[in-house]
Amino acid sequence: MTDFGDQAILTIDLDALVANWRALAALAPNSRCGGVVKADGYGLGADKVAAALYAAGCRDFFVAHTGEGVALRASLPKDAAIHILHGVPEGAAAEQAARGLIPVLSSPEQIARWTAESRRQGRPLPAALQVDTGMHRLGLQPAEFAALLADQDTLRAFDARFLMSHLGCADEPSHPQNAQQLANFRAALARLQGQGLAGLRASFANSAGILLGPDYQFDLLRPGIGLYGSNPRAPEAGPYRPRPVAHLQAPILQIRNVDSGGSVGYGATYRVEKPRRIATLAAGYADGVLRALSNSGIAAIEGAQGLGGGAITMPIVGRVSMDMLAVDVSAVDDAFCQPGAMVTLFGGAVDIDAQARAAGTIAYELLTRMGPRVQRLYTGGAA
Ligand SMILES: *Cc1c(COP(=O)(O)O)cnc(C)c1O
Repeated sequence: MTDFGDQAILTIDLDALVANWRALAALAPNSRCGGVVKADGYGLGADKVAAALYAAGCRDFFVAHTGEGVALRASLPKDAAIHILHGVPEGAAAEQAARGLIPVLSSPEQIARWTAESRRQGRPLPAALQVDTGMHRLGLQPAEFAALLADQDTLRAFDARFLMSHLGCADEPSHPQNAQQLANFRAALARLQGQGLAGLRASFANSAGILLGPDYQFDLLRPGIGLYGSNPRAPEAGPYRPRPVAHLQAPILQIRNVDSGGSVGYGATYRVEKPRRIATLAAGYADGVLRALSNSGIAAIEGAQGLGGGAITMPIVGRVSMDMLAVDVSAVDDAFCQPGAMVTLFGGAVDIDAQARAAGTIAYELLTRMGPRVQRLYTGGAA
């Protein structure tokens, strides 16, 4: 959609993304660092994100759906491994194999599909194998895993590149489930390696898992959110300080004075107790500014402290509506606060994790809800 000056803008800093990838990789010097680019690269553009990561040396990518993998395949060189976290759906094995996609096999049915396709093609096709270590979302259950161990023909029919599992509580370092899942994962890995798959590699850690330390890192890391500028340990500082990657800004449409006793927006949920200046911004929940930020989120005008730079933050007031929201700009000098001026909603001077908490959610949701009207601009990267 052409931007006529009244659209929200999401500026994506590909250099910051790459710096975050390197910083996460540096926390696990004995592991390979991949990149999770599902859901269109957490809303930031999977093709751009993956190209920047590839240029920095990343060769292992993860998406959720086969369709995402097909699209990504077209934009990455051949030596990029693209893994499909949802595995191989019924009827999709030939297509995945033809495109060189690597499914994460999570059930006996998926293993049977991949085994059959490998036999049909007369070569062991590459795959990852997922075990459920306690999150109870995807992966082989203990009995299914035991049956696979006993089935040497199947184990050798396809090319198992690595064993994988996913942590349910990695963002809470003291949660006892972390150690339980780790023990289950180690046991499963040892049993497979004992079955003749001696060189089998392992992938266990998402962003928060990397921060749990060397025991959790294994061979291949799968960071997602940490690449995109969120600190998985927030509000705690933790061992990783990401650079902000996505900066959402919306222009001011109008500014008005509201007298004592007046109210702002639908439902009159915000009542003015002393005279205030209220700015209406051109972004709402249809653009991904969650309605849950009504009367609880913040916004900022960058560089509003004059020549010294610095931002002024202000509250979101009243309900976020579909195309607009209101902020209280009483504290901002008029010189920085006119129709057309851009106001930050996350990134820049507004910490994305703090804004997510204000909405009762997580940075993952703020990023992946960005709507189609939001203009994406890229800085840095190979481009
Ligand atoms: C989404 C996902 C990741 C990435 O997780 P982050 O918390 O974003 O780092 C890694 N592994 C699996 C299986 C996932 O589904």
